[in-house]
Amino acid sequence: MDTDIPLRIVFVEDVSTDVELAVRMLHKEGLIFTSVHVETEEEFTKALTEYQPDLVISDYSLPQFDGMRALQLALAHDANLPFIIMTGTISEEAAADCIKAGAWDYVIKERLIRLPFMVKGVLERKMARRAQSEATATLRLQSAALQSAANAIVITGRDGVIQWANPAFSNLSGYSFNESVGKRIGDLVRSGHQDRAFYKSLWNTILAGYVWCGELINRRKDGSVYPEEQTITPVRDDQERISHFVAIKQDITKRTLAEAEIHHLAYYDSLTGLPNRRLFRDRLAQTLAAARRSNRWGAVLFVDLDQFKRINDARGHAVGDSLLKQTGARLAGSLRDQDTVARLGGDEFVVLLVNLGAAQADATRWATQVAEKIRSALAAPLRVDALDYQISASIGITVFPKAMESVDDLLREADTAMYRAKDMGRNAVSYFEPAMHTALQARFALEHDLRQALARGEMRLFLQPQVDGAGGWVGAEALVRWERPGYGLVSPALFIPVAEESGIILALGQWVLEEACRLLRQLDAAGHALRLAVNVSPRQFRQSDFVACVNEALRSTGANPAHLVLEVTEGLVIEDICDTIAKMMELRLLGIHFSIDDFGTGYSSLAYLKRLPLHELKIDRTFVQDAPTDPNDAALVEAILAVAHHLNLVVVAEGVETQIQLDFLKQRGCGVFQGYFFDRPLPWAQFQEKALLQKR
Ligand code: C2E
Ligand code: MG
Ligand code: MG
Repeated sequence: MDTDIPLRIVFVEDVSTDVELAVRMLHKEGLIFTSVHVETEEEFTKALTEYQPDLVISDYSLPQFDGMRALQLALAHDANLPFIIMTGTISEEAAADCIKAGAWDYVIKERLIRLPFMVKGVLERKMARRAQSEATATLRLQSAALQSAANAIVITGRDGVIQWANPAFSNLSGYSFNESVGKRIGDLVRSGHQDRAFYKSLWNTILAGYVWCGELINRRKDGSVYPEEQTITPVRDDQERISHFVAIKQDITKRTLAEAEIHHLAYYDSLTGLPNRRLFRDRLAQTLAAARRSNRWGAVLFVDLDQFKRINDARGHAVGDSLLKQTGARLAGSLRDQDTVARLGGDEFVVLLVNLGAAQADATRWATQVAEKIRSALAAPLRVDALDYQISASIGITVFPKAMESVDDLLREADTAMYRAKDMGRNAVSYFEPAMHTALQARFALEHDLRQALARGEMRLFLQPQVDGAGGWVGAEALVRWERPGYGLVSPALFIPVAEESGIILALGQWVLEEACRLLRQLDAAGHALRLAVNVSPRQFRQSDFVACVNEALRSTGANPAHLVLEVTEGLVIEDICDTIAKMMELRLLGIHFSIDDFGTGYSSLAYLKRLPLHELKIDRTFVQDAPTDPNDAALVEAILAVAHHLNLVVVAEGVETQIQLDFLKQRGCGVFQGYFFDRPLPWAQFQEKALLQKR
């Protein structure tokens, strides 16, 4: 009740002078109020609703009305409306009845002097009642809030014994309200994940009156543990002593998992589960700093799989992925716990070896041993879908701390050494030496120049004749050469792999195709009915518009498709067999023939070959060359010839260098030969001249 607003009083009284007297008394005591005076039930009812009194002062007995009735009406209107009986005569019993019925007090008219104090008292009580009911409502609200809070809330005494806990705590901990109250909180939820010192500092904090915030692992009733974030606030009593603690707990399992997942995504390679480049660099940076301080040597090994791209292109990414996973596992298995193996991407792995001794020579020796261990771990074939794959790796090593090299320097050094290992014929280990930068730069220069080569017209197409048993020409293979300024004629064995890795092969392959078709057209025009074989790289064949590209080459040159042979490798055939068959069929319908190059070196199975529109097989030259002397190769050549015969395929033996080889092949039914024994790949002009001689 606001004291500035005048009090509103209703008098229920038949004697006006009594009202006037009462009003005067109240004014005299400084009460500020307005009042109305009613005599009948009707007037009173109206006053209650329209005037909204703060207090009713009523006579006990009136001629047309009655105090008890007025009291009933007043309470019905507002159960907390103060009501004072003011009467001339009233028995003790009647007064007691009134109080029982809800009147707040009563006053005898002779003692009206008491009225102001009584009114003040009544008003004070009214304010107290209202304050209390407001407080109760607030408490009820707060309690409801605590009950329904999503966070677990526990109130303990200063001894840590639970006095109250909300349902969220029961959900979190598994302990019901009754199981919780009266127990020490620590006895319920302690998991053993935090040590004594942790709890000691927690208690020191809150007993000193400070709020404690932190994360800890607690245990549920069922024994499982969970991470939670907790805020414990000390609560003080009237004397400012800490009497309670309020703990608010939040289950952070989800957040912790999300954090772990984010960490994993950020620092680990999703395919192999190994650390990724970022984590590796972090570790290397730390190790390098520590190595400088303690002068203990370490090493970085760059491990790159040999020919992985070929398998991946040929057999598909699912196979490639599986091989990478298995390789990662084998690498990890070859290392000590403190070492790190990471996948940088593609088929590049990198290994960090720590604590390799106090001398560079020791480090070098240890690193070599680990590299050999890795090579032998990779020596056993990897199995995917019941097929075995032989994988080898080229490994480059650098040791640290040598001078002031950075993390990037070390990675570059190991990478350079790895390229050197590749140059040494793959499946090798090489150490970083400063001179290697030159080799690396040479490779970059090659790629750079290769990009310009086509536009500058530096590519040449040589043709190597293919002959029948009688030595007559039946066809030729188109083999590309690069006339690189300052280097002379560069062999495709040197630049085709770079072209494949860099994607230049697509433009280069198209150029070869068009050039071959152009030459084919000229040969036909000159009356040479020769077939011309063109090598097609898997990457080129996989292009979705490959068929259209071939068509375009034929159309623009007017070459006869029936004289065009496309040489593809075994690997290409097997990867995505459906796409291969579809494209081959389409091209076959144009009249184009297909040949499987380097047969015997890949993974082809007869089952695949039977489904393809093939025309010929080319026996790889390594088998041809060794067949007369090596019984294994002899058996293989015989088997290939048998398969080919069975499938009605022409067999071309490539790399025939000697009469002995030729005789061996002829005896076993091989029909077509290609090799230095007859001719080397020839420039176009020379090939034309020889072709003319052939015809005569
Ligand atoms: P390939 O398709 O197996 O070609 C046969 C290779 O054996 C050619 O090497 C050829 O010169 C060589 N050769 C032929 N007869 C003999 C012999 O009697 N003894 C020896 N030791 N070698 C012989 P080249 O021209 O260096 O080509 C190497 C490889 O480069 C080719 O192997 C082919 O895979 C690839 N290549 C060449 N031209 C192209 C092309 O235009 N496109 C694509 N994608 N690859 C090509
Ligand atoms: Mg070939
Ligand atoms: Mg070949």
